[in-house]
Amino acid sequence: MADTTLLAEALFPHVTRLGADLEIQYPPRNLPTGAAITRFAPSPTGFMHIGGLFAALISERLAHQSEGVFFVRIEDTDKKREVEGATDIIRTTFAEYGIVVDEGLVRTSESVGAYGPYLQSERLDLYAICAKHLVAIGRAYPCFCTSEELAANTATQEAQKIRPGYRGQWARCRTHTVDEALARVRAGAPYVIRLRSEGTFDYHKVTVDDCIKGSLSLPENDLDTVLLKSDGYPTYHFAHIVDDHLMYTTHVIRGDEWLSSTPLHLELWSAFGWTAPRYGHIAPIQKVDGGGKRKLSKRKDPEANMAYYAEKGYPVPAVIEYLLNLANSNFEDWRKEHPATDYRKFPFSLKKLNVSGALFDEVKLMSISKELIAALPVEEMYTQMTTWLTVHDSALFDVVTNDAAYTKSILGIEKEGAKRKDIRAWSDAREELIYFFDTGFAVDTTLLTSDTPKEIVVEVFDRFLETYDPSDDATVWFGKVQAIAAALGYAENLKAFKQNPTAYKGHVGTIAQILRIAVTGKTKTPDLHTVMTVLGAERVGTRIRALRDILKKTRQML
Ligand code: GLU
Repeated sequence: MADTTLLAEALFPHVTRLGADLEIQYPPRNLPTGAAITRFAPSPTGFMHIGGLFAALISERLAHQSEGVFFVRIEDTDKKREVEGATDIIRTTFAEYGIVVDEGLVRTSESVGAYGPYLQSERLDLYAICAKHLVAIGRAYPCFCTSEELAANTATQEAQKIRPGYRGQWARCRTHTVDEALARVRAGAPYVIRLRSEGTFDYHKVTVDDCIKGSLSLPENDLDTVLLKSDGYPTYHFAHIVDDHLMYTTHVIRGDEWLSSTPLHLELWSAFGWTAPRYGHIAPIQKVDGGGKRKLSKRKDPEANMAYYAEKGYPVPAVIEYLLNLANSNFEDWRKEHPATDYRKFPFSLKKLNVSGALFDEVKLMSISKELIAALPVEEMYTQMTTWLTVHDSALFDVVTNDAAYTKSILGIEKEGAKRKDIRAWSDAREELIYFFDTGFAVDTTLLTSDTPKEIVVEVFDRFLETYDPSDDATVWFGKVQAIAAALGYAENLKAFKQNPTAYKGHVGTIAQILRIAVTGKTKTPDLHTVMTVLGAERVGTRIRALRDILKKTRQML
């Protein structure tokens, strides 16, 4: 038996299975050629970052558009960072956003799939088997250095202005003989398992064929990185390699904070003699801040958290479409050409991803969202809106559901041609709907009289009430508003006013605006004739009369 095999046995006496047994336990997947196997591998920190959903969506698209598999693996080896319920947040966010997970812990609370466990803390035996193998072949060794010794190493390196790290001559335990190591193990000294790196940082480069960033040349790894900690838990570097090998991952799509460790990962793949998957590193989503751009921050930016979108009431497809738009700028043109097609038919491309970081823009999200809401059939709009209101605005929920037919007629305004675009997210519903209901209707009378003398406003009201007929169509209705304008010295249309501005007090727009404010309390609404039709003659009459009376009283008081 080779010395290193003896050492491996002494370090892992309970590990009896071999790497070859694992290859039998996890046979290759039976998938069509070219099928991508991708994964989302979050640490359960209890926070679903928009960048996480972005990466998950990219991986999911890659898998499913190639008839492959998308799975979720929970990387819970850092117990300090773990938050209870974190897996549920991932599961519910994916379910909400329609991210279909084929395997792992996210589809149900049970793990699904034949390549599990999908929770790293339940895979410690697999890491031990693989670590034992690396020790046996001489590519890993136990390190007994204490944290004080490691700190002293780093301090010396810093003092000598040498790149810090446990490597080469600085890697004290690397040179222990097997007998020395065995003696320490037998004496019960605590240890970690480290890679025995064969790389040279300064002289050799390794080519990373990144499927997002293209071909990159990076210095080789020369660090004897920790693979297994003293409690038997693996580091991310080691665990993801064992997992992605045994789960047959073809593409590792991850944040670009991992790019600099990729040479280490490639060294590990080759130490095992396994074929590495393609790595693809996504730059973080950025936002404009002041004059510059910066990474969306979990602490500073509420929009970094997926919970923000649910709270604001952005419909799920709007967020997905927005993310696809961020990922592939040609998505927008594709969408124009295929307005009714499922986004899953869009030919997503890794090559078109923004290498330096997509720029988050909520205004763009709003514009996608309002178009989508405008295009929803009334019934669907009603269902989605009330579903959101139950959770986020129960007072408005009570108001709108109290008269569902009326609410639906409000939602139906300018539905034809999807023209009404004042609702960008369900949280706009209050502002855009409440004035239709008497409980939420209020007018700031100064708005009415800011540009027009009270007497004229009252005159507009009187004349309107005399002539208003709810059965008038839009043309007749507008003709009457024009007649009021003309009678009070206002131009009947903008053109006439512009041609001879001094001849008029203003134009018909002012008269219509007075009426708009009077019946809605707002300066901007959908088409006024339609709004009045929905409000109904009684409400229109009551609102205008009440205002007229208030204005008349204030006039008398002057
Ligand atoms: N657990 C790692 C993280 O949360 C995953 C990186 C990867 O996808 O490999 O950053």
